[in-house]
Amino acid sequence: MTSTMTQSEQDFRALLKEMNLLDTTNALLDWDGQTYMPEDESDMRAELVSYVGQKSFQLETGAKMKAFVDQFTDQPELLSTDGKLLFKKVKKNYDLNAKVPAAEMAAYTKLISKAQSVWMSAHKHQSYAEFKPYLKQIIEATKRLIQYWKTDQKTDYDVLLDQYEPGMTVAMLDPIFTQLRDGVTDLRAQIADHGDQPNDQFMHRYVSETTQTELSRDFVSRLGFDFNKGSLDISMHPFTVGMNRNDARITTRYGVHDFQMSLLGSIHEAGHALYQQNIDPKWDFTLLSGGASMGIHESQSLFNEVMIGRNYDYWKHEYPRFLELTGETFSDIDFETFYRGFNTTHASLIRTEADPLTYPLHIIIRYELEKAIINGNVDVDELPSMWNQMYQDYLGITPDNDADGILQDIHWAGGDLGYFPSYALGHLYAAQFLHAMSQTLDLPKIFASGNYQPLIDWRKINIHQFGASKEPNQIVKDATGEALSPKYWLAHQQSVYKRVYRL
Ligand code: ZN
Repeated sequence: MTSTMTQSEQDFRALLKEMNLLDTTNALLDWDGQTYMPEDESDMRAELVSYVGQKSFQLETGAKMKAFVDQFTDQPELLSTDGKLLFKKVKKNYDLNAKVPAAEMAAYTKLISKAQSVWMSAHKHQSYAEFKPYLKQIIEATKRLIQYWKTDQKTDYDVLLDQYEPGMTVAMLDPIFTQLRDGVTDLRAQIADHGDQPNDQFMHRYVSETTQTELSRDFVSRLGFDFNKGSLDISMHPFTVGMNRNDARITTRYGVHDFQMSLLGSIHEAGHALYQQNIDPKWDFTLLSGGASMGIHESQSLFNEVMIGRNYDYWKHEYPRFLELTGETFSDIDFETFYRGFNTTHASLIRTEADPLTYPLHIIIRYELEKAIINGNVDVDELPSMWNQMYQDYLGITPDNDADGILQDIHWAGGDLGYFPSYALGHLYAAQFLHAMSQTLDLPKIFASGNYQPLIDWRKINIHQFGASKEPNQIVKDATGEALSPKYWLAHQQSVYKRVYRL
């Protein structure tokens, strides 16, 4: 390896930095658009966002980039070890873009933009018929794009999976999701047959927005969220925008009769931000300065939310502080009652409102449908009844209308087929990381101490620092010593729900 960077690599990195600065600008505009932007600004803002996005896309696909791609493909020795990792990622994106004729990509972008506004209207009117023609076109367009993108993947759906979760395939996911579905179904049956239903009425007691904000700030900062490198604001849908490691902003939303929503929401987003805040500075201003994949990113938010934020030992230590911060509101609720009420599970129709036990079933339903759409030939007329039938089979409930059914997520309108599995993978990765951690750290002792730094450091060392320089499968292998397995998540949930439902 060359000890000093070649001039070519320096020039290449300068181009990546330009792209990164434009993308960061758009990230900041996105955050502003969802938090403080005045309502009347939306049209002019859309022009600004589109202008900045085009500038970045031109750099990503332009002549200068093509020259670098050609040069480093022929002469990889011009790159340092880190430079090779950067180039690998750049080339993958470049190839995806370059393979699709520009006119076809432009038509697709236009379709997606229109489809999202049609979806909003269709969702409001609970009308699948309104959205159906667009869904049909999106499916057809996606199938055409896959033919451009496809290299050596076994199935067409693998092409899409790889774009969100590099290296993931149907052959890997099928057995994982089958085991997951069977395990969840079995545990839900045990709860239904023998479970002692916890009292969770107190979960709806009034907690003011001011108190909830205080709770959120207190809890996330002690879980490592650095307020010198981020902020907590309000938005309709909670999200994290990571500009760079010094600026990762989170949002939450409040319901005065649902303190759990804002608290767990903040803890979740803070997990995304913590990842962003701890990426190695050597990846600054490059496209490796983000997370490894959607799934690994979600594993960090869910580690915070589920593995810590719903953890028995964690709450045992935190409960007195929670009681103090919420005044007299919960003074009649002892810790065991609190913990059980905090962790009840119910079948529900809406994915984003599902509890950790039922959540994977929502994802498996979407995965099965997407596989059938992309690898098979599903009639779009049939999709709502397929959706409803699967909700009945998997969760025992059927939506009354399409807004609570097939129209509930914006993903398909945005062309994001293949994205959903990442959410479930995030849950599974998180549990496997917790298990690996427990092999070297005394977790009960750490939780009892209230000093959670070892849990932060472990993730920083094993996951965060690498940014996107490692593939998800490699991160899991290196951090836990084995490939992804659903058994750790299932074992974790069994121990949680046995306690909550006294099984
Ligand atoms: Zn998330």
